[in-house]
Amino acid sequence: MSAYMDPRTLNAELTALEEHPRYGMDLDEWFARATALEKAAAELGATDLELRAQLLRADIVGRRGDVITSGQICRQVNAWATDHEHQLLLVLSHLRLSPYFGQLGDYPTALEHALGALEALSRMGDAASPYLRWRCVMALADALADVEDIEGARQRYAEAGKLSVTLGDIRARIRVFNNLAFTEHDVGDSAQAEHAVERILQLAAEHGLTLDYNTLDTVAHVQLGAGRYQDAITTLLPALDDEYAIAYEEVGSRAQCLVTLSEVHRRAGDLTGAQDAVDRCRLLCEDRRLFGVAVDVRREQAEIWAAAGRFAEALDEYKAFHAAAMALTSSERDARAKTLHAMYEADEARRAGARAQELSLRDPLTGLFNRRFVDVELPVLIGQALEAHTPLSVAIVDLDHFKRINDTCSHEVGDEVLRRVAELLTDSAASGRDAFAARLGGEEFLLVQPGADPSTAYAWAERLRVAIRSHDWRPITGAVPVTASIGVATSAESCRTQEALLRLADTHLYAAKEGGRDRTADGPHHVLKQAS
Ligand code: GH3
Ligand code: MG
Ligand code: MG
Repeated sequence: MSAYMDPRTLNAELTALEEHPRYGMDLDEWFARATALEKAAAELGATDLELRAQLLRADIVGRRGDVITSGQICRQVNAWATDHEHQLLLVLSHLRLSPYFGQLGDYPTALEHALGALEALSRMGDAASPYLRWRCVMALADALADVEDIEGARQRYAEAGKLSVTLGDIRARIRVFNNLAFTEHDVGDSAQAEHAVERILQLAAEHGLTLDYNTLDTVAHVQLGAGRYQDAITTLLPALDDEYAIAYEEVGSRAQCLVTLSEVHRRAGDLTGAQDAVDRCRLLCEDRRLFGVAVDVRREQAEIWAAAGRFAEALDEYKAFHAAAMALTSSERDARAKTLHAMYEADEARRAGARAQELSLRDPLTGLFNRRFVDVELPVLIGQALEAHTPLSVAIVDLDHFKRINDTCSHEVGDEVLRRVAELLTDSAASGRDAFAARLGGEEFLLVQPGADPSTAYAWAERLRVAIRSHDWRPITGAVPVTASIGVATSAESCRTQEALLRLADTHLYAAKEGGRDRTADGPHHVLKQAS
Protein backbone atom coordinates (compact mmCIF):
# COMPACT_ATOMS: atom_id res chain seq x y z
CA MET A 1 0.00 0.00 0.00
CA SER A 2 1.32 3.43 -0.87
CA ALA A 3 1.89 5.82 1.97
CA TYR A 4 1.05 8.77 -0.27
CA MET A 5 -0.08 11.89 1.48
CA ASP A 6 -0.05 15.36 0.01
CA PRO A 7 2.59 17.67 1.51
CA ARG A 8 0.09 19.96 3.20
CA THR A 9 -1.70 17.16 4.99
CA LEU A 10 1.62 15.67 5.95
CA ASN A 11 2.83 18.98 7.31
CA ALA A 12 -0.39 19.41 9.29
CA GLU A 13 -0.13 15.90 10.73
CA LEU A 14 3.45 16.48 11.78
CA THR A 15 2.58 19.78 13.38
CA ALA A 16 -0.29 18.15 15.25
CA LEU A 17 2.02 15.53 16.70
CA GLU A 18 4.72 18.09 17.48
CA GLU A 19 2.32 20.43 19.21
CA HIS A 20 0.01 18.04 21.01
CA PRO A 21 2.31 15.50 22.45
CA ARG A 22 0.84 12.27 23.45
CA TYR A 23 -1.94 13.06 25.84
CA GLY A 24 -3.75 9.78 26.04
CA MET A 25 -1.87 8.11 23.19
CA ASP A 26 0.22 5.06 23.90
CA LEU A 27 3.80 4.73 22.75
CA ASP A 28 3.12 2.04 20.14
CA GLU A 29 0.38 4.04 18.51
CA TRP A 30 2.60 7.12 18.56
CA PHE A 31 5.49 5.21 17.07
CA ALA A 32 3.29 3.78 14.30
CA ARG A 33 2.04 7.22 13.35
CA ALA A 34 5.51 8.73 13.28
CA THR A 35 6.82 5.86 11.16
CA ALA A 36 3.90 6.16 8.71
CA LEU A 37 4.54 9.88 8.31
CA GLU A 38 8.23 9.28 7.80
CA LYS A 39 7.45 6.84 5.00
CA ALA A 40 4.97 9.20 3.38
CA ALA A 41 7.55 11.99 3.45
CA ALA A 42 10.20 9.73 1.95
CA GLU A 43 7.86 8.87 -0.92
CA LEU A 44 7.38 12.55 -1.59
CA GLY A 45 11.11 13.11 -1.45
CA ALA A 46 10.48 15.80 1.16
CA THR A 47 13.59 15.49 3.29
CA ASP A 48 12.64 18.16 5.81
CA LEU A 49 9.28 16.51 6.52
CA GLU A 50 10.97 13.15 6.75
CA LEU A 51 13.40 14.48 9.32
CA ARG A 52 10.61 16.00 11.37
CA ALA A 53 8.98 12.58 11.49
CA GLN A 54 12.33 11.10 12.47
CA LEU A 55 12.55 13.46 15.43
CA LEU A 56 9.15 12.27 16.61
CA ARG A 57 10.33 8.72 16.30
CA ALA A 58 13.54 9.54 18.17
CA ASP A 59 11.45 10.79 21.07
CA ILE A 60 9.73 7.42 21.42
CA VAL A 61 12.93 5.47 20.94
CA GLY A 62 14.38 7.48 23.84
CA ARG A 63 11.37 6.93 26.07
CA ARG A 64 11.64 3.24 25.46
CA GLY A 65 15.14 3.35 26.82
CA ASP A 66 17.44 3.50 23.78
CA VAL A 67 18.88 6.92 24.51
CA ILE A 68 21.95 6.46 22.34
CA THR A 69 19.97 5.90 19.15
CA SER A 70 17.56 8.65 20.07
CA GLY A 71 20.36 11.15 20.60
CA GLN A 72 22.09 10.17 17.40
CA ILE A 73 18.98 10.72 15.33
CA CYS A 74 18.54 14.15 16.87
CA ARG A 75 22.13 15.06 16.24
CA GLN A 76 21.99 13.96 12.60
CA VAL A 77 18.86 16.01 12.04
CA ASN A 78 20.53 18.94 13.75
CA ALA A 79 23.56 18.65 11.45
CA TRP A 80 21.33 18.56 8.36
CA ALA A 81 19.34 21.54 9.59
CA THR A 82 22.56 23.48 10.19
CA ASP A 83 23.86 22.73 6.69
CA HIS A 84 20.55 23.65 5.08
CA GLU A 85 19.79 26.55 7.41
CA HIS A 86 16.42 24.98 8.07
CA GLN A 87 15.26 26.98 11.06
CA LEU A 88 12.28 24.86 12.09
CA LEU A 89 14.33 21.68 12.11
CA LEU A 90 17.04 23.51 14.01
CA VAL A 91 14.53 24.53 16.66
CA LEU A 92 13.01 21.05 16.89
CA SER A 93 16.31 19.21 17.04
CA HIS A 94 17.89 21.61 19.56
CA LEU A 95 14.76 21.23 21.66
CA ARG A 96 15.26 17.48 21.82
CA LEU A 97 19.00 17.66 22.37
CA SER A 98 18.73 20.05 25.30
CA PRO A 99 16.91 17.77 27.77
CA TYR A 100 18.86 14.87 26.35
CA PHE A 101 22.13 16.34 27.55
CA GLY A 102 20.43 17.51 30.72
CA GLN A 103 19.56 13.90 31.54
CA LEU A 104 23.15 12.92 30.91
CA GLY A 105 24.22 15.55 33.40
CA ASP A 106 26.01 17.68 30.82
CA TYR A 107 24.21 20.90 31.75
CA PRO A 108 26.34 23.39 29.83
CA THR A 109 25.67 21.52 26.58
CA ALA A 110 21.99 21.35 27.47
CA LEU A 111 22.02 25.13 27.86
CA GLU A 112 23.83 25.53 24.58
CA HIS A 113 21.08 23.60 22.79
CA ALA A 114 18.31 25.54 24.51
CA LEU A 115 19.92 28.77 23.32
CA GLY A 116 20.38 27.31 19.85
CA ALA A 117 16.66 26.57 19.75
CA LEU A 118 15.77 30.13 20.73
CA GLU A 119 18.14 31.62 18.21
CA ALA A 120 16.71 29.55 15.39
CA LEU A 121 13.24 30.43 16.63
CA SER A 122 13.97 34.14 16.43
CA ARG A 123 15.23 33.65 12.87
CA MET A 124 11.89 32.05 12.01
CA GLY A 125 10.16 35.32 12.85
CA ASP A 126 6.40 35.16 12.37
CA ALA A 127 6.59 31.60 11.06
CA ALA A 128 7.23 30.35 14.60
CA SER A 129 4.10 29.13 16.31
CA PRO A 130 3.36 30.35 19.85
CA TYR A 131 3.52 26.76 21.05
CA LEU A 132 7.01 26.36 19.66
CA ARG A 133 8.05 29.56 21.39
CA TRP A 134 6.65 28.21 24.64
CA ARG A 135 8.67 25.04 24.26
CA CYS A 136 11.85 27.01 23.61
CA VAL A 137 11.38 29.24 26.64
CA MET A 138 10.67 26.19 28.82
CA ALA A 139 13.79 24.45 27.55
CA LEU A 140 15.85 27.51 28.40
CA ALA A 141 14.27 27.78 31.86
CA ASP A 142 15.00 24.13 32.60
CA ALA A 143 18.55 24.42 31.34
CA LEU A 144 19.18 27.58 33.37
CA ALA A 145 17.81 25.88 36.49
CA ASP A 146 20.23 23.00 35.89
CA VAL A 147 23.25 25.32 35.65
CA GLU A 148 21.92 26.94 38.84
CA ASP A 149 21.11 30.31 37.31
CA ILE A 150 17.96 30.29 39.41
CA GLU A 151 17.07 33.92 38.81
CA GLY A 152 17.37 33.36 35.08
CA ALA A 153 15.25 30.24 35.33
CA ARG A 154 12.57 32.09 37.32
CA GLN A 155 12.33 34.78 34.68
CA ARG A 156 11.96 32.19 31.92
CA TYR A 157 9.33 30.25 33.83
CA ALA A 158 7.42 33.50 34.29
CA GLU A 159 7.68 34.16 30.57
CA ALA A 160 6.66 30.59 29.74
CA GLY A 161 3.74 30.98 32.12
CA LYS A 162 2.51 34.04 30.24
CA LEU A 163 2.92 32.27 26.92
CA SER A 164 0.97 29.26 28.16
CA VAL A 165 -1.88 31.53 29.21
CA THR A 166 -1.92 33.05 25.73
CA LEU A 167 -1.89 29.55 24.28
CA GLY A 168 -4.87 28.60 26.42
CA ASP A 169 -3.16 25.25 27.06
CA ILE A 170 -3.82 24.18 30.64
CA ARG A 171 -1.39 21.27 30.51
CA ALA A 172 1.32 23.63 29.34
CA ARG A 173 0.53 25.94 32.26
CA ILE A 174 0.69 23.05 34.69
CA ARG A 175 4.02 22.00 33.23
CA VAL A 176 5.41 25.47 33.88
CA PHE A 177 4.27 25.40 37.52
CA ASN A 178 5.56 21.86 37.91
CA ASN A 179 9.05 22.71 36.72
CA LEU A 180 9.05 25.92 38.71
CA ALA A 181 7.89 24.12 41.87
CA PHE A 182 10.59 21.50 41.37
CA THR A 183 13.24 24.20 40.99
CA GLU A 184 12.08 26.24 44.01
CA HIS A 185 11.82 23.11 46.13
CA ASP A 186 15.30 22.14 45.04
CA VAL A 187 16.81 25.48 46.08
CA GLY A 188 14.85 25.46 49.34
CA ASP A 189 12.40 28.26 48.63
CA SER A 190 9.44 26.43 50.11
CA ALA A 191 7.02 29.37 49.98
CA GLN A 192 7.48 29.74 46.22
CA ALA A 193 7.32 25.98 45.73
CA GLU A 194 4.08 25.78 47.69
CA HIS A 195 2.61 28.63 45.74
CA ALA A 196 3.38 26.91 42.44
CA VAL A 197 1.91 23.67 43.71
CA GLU A 198 -1.30 25.44 44.78
CA ARG A 199 -1.62 26.78 41.26
CA ILE A 200 -1.21 23.28 39.84
CA LEU A 201 -3.94 21.91 42.06
CA GLN A 202 -6.24 24.83 41.34
CA LEU A 203 -5.81 24.53 37.59
CA ALA A 204 -6.35 20.78 37.65
CA ALA A 205 -9.50 21.18 39.75
CA GLU A 206 -10.89 24.05 37.68
CA HIS A 207 -10.43 22.17 34.44
CA GLY A 208 -11.20 18.68 35.66
CA LEU A 209 -7.75 17.41 34.67
CA THR A 210 -5.83 14.53 36.16
CA LEU A 211 -2.11 15.01 36.73
CA ASP A 212 0.62 12.77 35.42
CA TYR A 213 2.83 10.89 37.87
CA ASN A 214 5.73 13.22 37.47
CA THR A 215 3.61 16.21 38.50
CA LEU A 216 2.00 14.29 41.36
CA ASP A 217 5.42 13.46 42.69
CA THR A 218 6.49 17.12 42.59
CA VAL A 219 3.30 18.21 44.36
CA ALA A 220 3.67 15.52 47.02
CA HIS A 221 7.32 16.36 47.67
CA VAL A 222 6.47 19.98 48.28
CA GLN A 223 3.59 19.02 50.57
CA LEU A 224 5.83 16.60 52.41
CA GLY A 225 8.42 19.33 52.88
CA ALA A 226 5.71 21.51 54.41
CA GLY A 227 4.69 18.72 56.80
CA ARG A 228 1.30 18.39 55.10
CA TYR A 229 1.27 14.60 55.24
CA GLN A 230 -2.43 14.06 54.69
CA ASP A 231 -2.43 16.28 51.59
CA ALA A 232 0.59 14.43 50.23
CA ILE A 233 -1.11 11.06 50.79
CA THR A 234 -4.20 12.27 48.94
CA THR A 235 -2.04 13.59 46.12
CA LEU A 236 -0.33 10.24 45.74
CA LEU A 237 -3.46 8.06 45.76
CA PRO A 238 -3.26 7.58 41.96
CA ALA A 239 0.07 5.81 42.45
CA LEU A 240 -1.95 2.92 43.92
CA ASP A 241 -4.42 2.93 41.05
CA ASP A 242 -3.76 0.61 38.08
CA GLU A 243 -6.40 2.28 35.92
CA TYR A 244 -4.69 5.61 36.37
CA ALA A 245 -1.41 3.99 35.46
CA ILE A 246 -2.75 2.98 32.07
CA ALA A 247 -3.48 6.58 31.13
CA TYR A 248 -0.04 7.71 32.30
CA GLU A 249 2.25 4.89 31.44
CA GLU A 250 5.43 6.50 32.66
CA VAL A 251 6.26 3.58 34.90
CA GLY A 252 9.37 5.09 36.38
CA SER A 253 7.48 8.13 37.65
CA ARG A 254 4.77 5.93 39.15
CA ALA A 255 7.39 3.94 41.03
CA GLN A 256 8.95 7.18 42.21
CA CYS A 257 5.54 8.24 43.53
CA LEU A 258 5.30 5.02 45.54
CA VAL A 259 8.65 5.68 47.17
CA THR A 260 7.49 9.18 48.04
CA LEU A 261 4.24 7.77 49.39
CA SER A 262 6.15 5.45 51.66
CA GLU A 263 8.25 8.33 52.91
CA VAL A 264 5.13 10.38 53.67
CA HIS A 265 3.53 7.55 55.65
CA ARG A 266 6.73 6.91 57.51
CA ARG A 267 7.23 10.55 58.46
CA ALA A 268 3.59 10.69 59.53
CA GLY A 269 4.27 7.70 61.79
CA ASP A 270 2.24 5.13 59.81
CA LEU A 271 4.78 2.38 59.26
CA THR A 272 2.20 -0.09 57.96
CA GLY A 273 1.20 2.35 55.21
CA ALA A 274 4.86 2.94 54.44
CA GLN A 275 5.60 -0.78 54.22
CA ASP A 276 2.63 -1.32 51.93
CA ALA A 277 3.78 1.41 49.52
CA VAL A 278 7.33 0.10 49.47
CA ASP A 279 6.15 -3.47 48.83
CA ARG A 280 4.07 -2.35 45.88
CA CYS A 281 6.95 -0.36 44.53
CA ARG A 282 9.33 -3.29 44.84
CA LEU A 283 6.96 -5.47 42.79
CA LEU A 284 6.64 -2.79 40.14
CA CYS A 285 10.41 -2.40 39.93
CA GLU A 286 10.91 -6.14 39.53
CA ASP A 287 8.15 -6.39 36.97
CA ARG A 288 9.36 -3.47 34.87
CA ARG A 289 13.07 -3.78 35.59
CA LEU A 290 13.42 -0.32 37.09
CA PHE A 291 16.87 -0.58 38.57
CA GLY A 292 17.23 3.06 39.50
CA VAL A 293 14.09 3.20 41.61
CA ALA A 294 14.84 -0.24 43.05
CA VAL A 295 17.82 1.31 44.78
CA ASP A 296 15.60 3.99 46.33
CA VAL A 297 13.29 1.21 47.52
CA ARG A 298 16.13 -0.32 49.50
CA ARG A 299 16.99 2.97 51.14
CA GLU A 300 13.36 3.57 52.02
CA GLN A 301 13.03 0.03 53.40
CA ALA A 302 16.03 0.65 55.63
CA GLU A 303 14.43 3.85 56.91
CA ILE A 304 11.24 1.95 57.73
CA TRP A 305 13.14 -0.71 59.71
CA ALA A 306 15.03 1.99 61.54
CA ALA A 307 11.83 3.88 62.37
CA ALA A 308 10.38 0.61 63.72
CA GLY A 309 13.41 0.17 65.96
CA ARG A 310 14.51 -2.95 64.05
CA PHE A 311 18.07 -1.77 63.80
CA ALA A 312 19.74 -5.04 62.77
CA GLU A 313 17.46 -5.33 59.73
CA ALA A 314 17.87 -1.64 59.01
CA LEU A 315 21.63 -2.01 58.99
CA ASP A 316 21.51 -5.00 56.61
CA GLU A 317 19.20 -3.12 54.31
CA TYR A 318 21.43 -0.04 54.39
CA LYS A 319 24.37 -2.20 53.38
CA ALA A 320 22.35 -3.68 50.53
CA PHE A 321 21.27 -0.19 49.52
CA HIS A 322 24.81 1.06 49.55
CA ALA A 323 26.05 -1.83 47.42
CA ALA A 324 23.20 -1.39 44.95
CA ALA A 325 23.77 2.35 44.75
CA MET A 326 27.46 1.87 44.05
CA ALA A 327 26.76 -0.76 41.41
CA LEU A 328 24.18 1.49 39.82
CA THR A 329 26.35 4.56 39.74
CA SER A 330 29.22 2.67 38.16
CA SER A 331 26.99 1.12 35.50
CA GLU A 332 25.30 4.46 35.02
CA ARG A 333 28.68 6.06 34.72
CA ASP A 334 29.67 3.55 32.06
CA ALA A 335 26.44 4.05 30.13
CA ARG A 336 26.74 7.79 30.40
CA ALA A 337 30.35 7.78 29.27
CA LYS A 338 29.50 5.58 26.32
CA THR A 339 26.59 7.76 25.32
CA LEU A 340 28.51 10.97 25.62
CA HIS A 341 31.38 9.52 23.66
CA ALA A 342 29.06 8.45 20.87
CA MET A 343 27.51 11.89 20.81
CA TYR A 344 30.71 13.86 20.87
CA GLU A 345 33.17 12.04 18.70
CA ALA A 346 31.75 13.32 15.44
CA ASP A 347 31.91 17.01 16.18
CA GLU A 348 34.30 17.43 19.04
CA ALA A 349 36.46 19.84 17.09
CA ARG A 350 33.59 22.12 16.17
CA ARG A 351 32.32 22.05 19.69
CA ALA A 352 35.58 22.93 21.37
CA GLY A 353 35.77 26.27 19.58
CA ALA A 354 32.15 27.19 19.66
CA ARG A 355 31.61 26.18 23.25
CA ALA A 356 33.58 28.70 25.21
CA GLN A 357 32.01 31.70 23.56
CA GLU A 358 28.53 30.25 23.39
CA LEU A 359 28.15 29.13 26.94
CA SER A 360 27.80 32.31 28.83
CA LEU A 361 25.05 34.86 28.73
CA ARG A 362 27.06 37.27 30.84
CA ASP A 363 29.91 39.57 30.08
CA PRO A 364 32.79 38.57 32.35
CA LEU A 365 34.17 42.07 32.92
CA THR A 366 30.96 43.80 34.02
CA GLY A 367 28.62 40.93 34.84
CA LEU A 368 26.01 42.49 32.57
CA PHE A 369 24.20 40.38 30.00
CA ASN A 370 26.16 40.02 26.79
CA ARG A 371 25.42 40.44 23.11
CA ARG A 372 24.44 36.82 22.82
CA PHE A 373 21.78 37.23 25.46
CA VAL A 374 20.45 40.29 23.66
CA ASP A 375 20.20 38.33 20.42
CA VAL A 376 18.14 35.69 22.13
CA GLU A 377 16.03 37.91 24.34
CA LEU A 378 15.32 41.07 22.42
CA PRO A 379 13.44 39.52 19.49
CA VAL A 380 11.15 37.79 21.98
CA LEU A 381 10.45 41.02 23.84
CA ILE A 382 9.84 42.92 20.61
CA GLY A 383 7.44 40.23 19.47
CA GLN A 384 5.56 40.36 22.76
CA ALA A 385 5.37 44.15 22.67
CA LEU A 386 4.00 44.19 19.13
CA GLU A 387 1.48 41.52 20.00
CA ALA A 388 0.32 43.38 23.09
CA HIS A 389 0.41 46.75 21.27
CA THR A 390 2.72 48.17 23.91
CA PRO A 391 5.88 50.10 23.12
CA LEU A 392 9.38 48.82 23.67
CA SER A 393 12.38 51.12 23.62
CA VAL A 394 16.11 50.59 23.54
CA ALA A 395 18.95 52.95 24.36
CA ILE A 396 22.46 52.38 23.04
CA VAL A 397 24.93 53.98 25.41
CA ASP A 398 28.43 54.69 24.11
CA LEU A 399 31.09 56.23 26.31
CA ASP A 400 32.64 59.41 24.96
CA HIS A 401 36.33 59.52 24.06
CA PHE A 402 36.89 56.32 25.90
CA LYS A 403 40.19 55.78 24.18
CA ARG A 404 41.38 58.93 25.94
CA ILE A 405 40.63 57.37 29.33
CA ASN A 406 42.61 54.27 28.42
CA ASP A 407 45.47 56.35 27.05
CA THR A 408 45.58 59.07 29.72
CA CYS A 409 44.98 56.83 32.71
CA SER A 410 45.44 53.14 31.96
CA HIS A 411 43.64 50.16 30.57
CA GLU A 412 42.93 49.01 34.13
CA VAL A 413 41.29 52.33 34.91
CA GLY A 414 39.33 51.95 31.68
CA ASP A 415 38.11 48.56 32.90
CA GLU A 416 37.10 50.03 36.24
CA VAL A 417 35.15 52.79 34.47
CA LEU A 418 33.33 50.13 32.45
CA ARG A 419 32.42 48.29 35.63
CA ARG A 420 31.12 51.45 37.29
CA VAL A 421 29.11 52.42 34.24
CA ALA A 422 27.69 48.90 34.25
CA GLU A 423 26.53 49.45 37.83
CA LEU A 424 24.85 52.72 36.88
CA LEU A 425 23.16 50.90 34.01
CA THR A 426 22.00 48.15 36.34
CA ASP A 427 20.51 50.76 38.70
CA SER A 428 18.84 52.40 35.76
CA ALA A 429 17.37 49.10 34.54
CA ALA A 430 16.12 48.34 38.05
CA SER A 431 13.86 51.38 37.84
CA GLY A 432 11.73 49.75 35.15
CA ARG A 433 9.72 46.56 35.07
CA ASP A 434 11.36 43.85 32.96
CA ALA A 435 14.07 46.27 31.87
CA PHE A 436 17.62 45.01 31.54
CA ALA A 437 21.09 46.24 30.65
CA ALA A 438 23.67 44.52 28.48
CA ARG A 439 27.18 45.16 27.25
CA LEU A 440 27.16 45.03 23.47
CA GLY A 441 30.93 45.15 23.28
CA GLY A 442 33.82 47.49 24.08
CA GLU A 443 32.43 50.64 25.68
CA GLU A 444 29.00 50.23 24.17
CA PHE A 445 25.98 49.23 26.25
CA LEU A 446 22.32 48.61 25.72
CA LEU A 447 19.38 49.41 27.96
CA VAL A 448 16.19 47.59 27.00
CA GLN A 449 13.04 49.28 28.25
CA PRO A 450 9.89 47.24 27.71
CA GLY A 451 6.74 49.31 28.00
CA ALA A 452 8.55 52.64 27.56
CA ASP A 453 7.08 54.96 24.93
CA PRO A 454 9.38 57.45 23.15
CA SER A 455 9.11 60.25 25.69
CA THR A 456 9.44 57.92 28.70
CA ALA A 457 12.45 56.28 27.08
CA TYR A 458 14.04 59.62 26.32
CA ALA A 459 13.59 60.86 29.89
CA TRP A 460 14.91 57.54 31.19
CA ALA A 461 18.01 57.75 29.02
CA GLU A 462 18.57 61.35 30.08
CA ARG A 463 18.52 60.35 33.75
CA LEU A 464 21.09 57.70 32.98
CA ARG A 465 23.27 60.11 31.02
CA VAL A 466 23.21 62.61 33.89
CA ALA A 467 23.93 59.83 36.40
CA ILE A 468 27.02 58.87 34.41
CA ARG A 469 28.39 62.41 33.97
CA SER A 470 27.71 63.40 37.60
CA HIS A 471 29.08 60.23 39.19
CA ASP A 472 32.14 60.99 41.31
CA TRP A 473 34.86 59.79 38.95
CA ARG A 474 37.75 61.66 40.55
CA PRO A 475 38.99 58.74 42.65
CA ILE A 476 39.20 56.68 39.47
CA THR A 477 40.07 58.93 36.54
CA GLY A 478 41.30 62.07 38.29
CA ALA A 479 40.61 65.07 36.11
CA VAL A 480 39.36 63.11 33.09
CA PRO A 481 35.58 63.32 32.81
CA VAL A 482 33.42 60.34 31.97
CA THR A 483 30.37 61.00 29.82
CA ALA A 484 28.23 59.04 27.42
CA SER A 485 26.19 59.64 24.30
CA ILE A 486 22.91 57.81 23.98
CA GLY A 487 20.75 56.88 21.00
CA VAL A 488 17.16 55.91 21.74
CA ALA A 489 14.62 54.13 19.52
CA THR A 490 11.17 52.66 20.02
CA SER A 491 9.67 49.67 18.28
CA ALA A 492 6.72 50.27 16.01
CA GLU A 493 5.00 48.59 13.07
CA SER A 494 7.63 50.21 10.86
CA CYS A 495 10.44 49.01 13.11
CA ARG A 496 9.58 45.50 14.22
CA THR A 497 12.82 43.56 14.19
CA GLN A 498 15.80 43.70 16.48
CA GLU A 499 17.98 44.63 13.55
CA ALA A 500 15.82 47.59 12.52
CA LEU A 501 15.45 48.79 16.09
CA LEU A 502 19.15 48.68 16.90
CA ARG A 503 20.02 50.26 13.57
CA LEU A 504 17.70 53.16 14.32
CA ALA A 505 19.10 53.60 17.84
CA ASP A 506 22.58 53.52 16.35
CA THR A 507 21.70 56.24 13.85
CA HIS A 508 20.49 58.38 16.74
CA LEU A 509 23.63 57.62 18.71
CA TYR A 510 25.68 58.81 15.78
CA ALA A 511 23.65 62.02 15.73
CA ALA A 512 24.30 62.50 19.44
CA LYS A 513 28.05 62.12 18.85
CA GLU A 514 27.89 64.50 15.92
CA GLY A 515 25.88 66.93 18.03
CA GLY A 516 28.79 67.24 20.46
CA ARG A 517 28.61 64.12 22.69
CA ASP A 518 27.31 63.89 26.28
CA ARG A 519 23.73 63.99 25.01
CA THR A 520 20.74 61.84 24.19
CA ALA A 521 19.14 61.65 20.77
CA ASP A 522 15.96 59.87 19.83
CA GLY A 523 15.27 61.24 16.36
CA PRO A 524 14.99 64.56 14.64
CA HIS A 525 13.38 66.56 17.48
CA HIS A 526 15.90 65.77 20.12
CA VAL A 527 19.13 65.70 18.21
CA LEU A 528 19.91 69.31 18.88
CA LYS A 529 18.75 69.36 22.43
CA GLN A 530 21.33 70.95 24.67
CA ALA A 531 23.19 68.74 27.03
CA SER A 532 22.63 69.67 30.64
P1 GH3 B 1 33.70 58.17 20.78
O1 GH3 B 1 33.38 59.28 21.71
O2 GH3 B 1 33.61 58.57 19.36
O3 GH3 B 1 32.85 56.97 21.07
O4 GH3 B 1 35.22 57.78 21.04
P2 GH3 B 1 35.80 56.50 21.74
O5 GH3 B 1 37.24 56.70 22.00
O6 GH3 B 1 34.96 56.17 22.94
O7 GH3 B 1 35.47 55.39 20.70
P3 GH3 B 1 36.31 54.30 19.96
O8 GH3 B 1 35.29 53.33 19.46
O9 GH3 B 1 37.21 54.93 18.94
O10 GH3 B 1 37.21 53.60 21.04
C1 GH3 B 1 36.72 52.70 21.96
C2 GH3 B 1 37.86 52.21 22.80
O11 GH3 B 1 37.41 51.34 23.82
C3 GH3 B 1 38.88 51.46 22.02
C4 GH3 B 1 39.24 50.26 22.88
O12 GH3 B 1 40.61 50.18 23.13
C5 GH3 B 1 38.50 50.52 24.17
N1 GH3 B 1 38.01 49.31 24.78
C6 GH3 B 1 37.22 48.37 24.21
N2 GH3 B 1 36.97 47.37 25.10
C7 GH3 B 1 37.65 47.68 26.24
C8 GH3 B 1 37.79 47.03 27.50
O13 GH3 B 1 37.23 45.94 27.78
N3 GH3 B 1 38.54 47.65 28.44
C9 GH3 B 1 39.14 48.84 28.19
N4 GH3 B 1 39.87 49.38 29.17
N5 GH3 B 1 39.05 49.45 27.00
C10 GH3 B 1 38.31 48.90 26.04
MG1 MG C 1 32.94 55.55 22.52
MG1 MG D 1 32.06 52.68 20.55
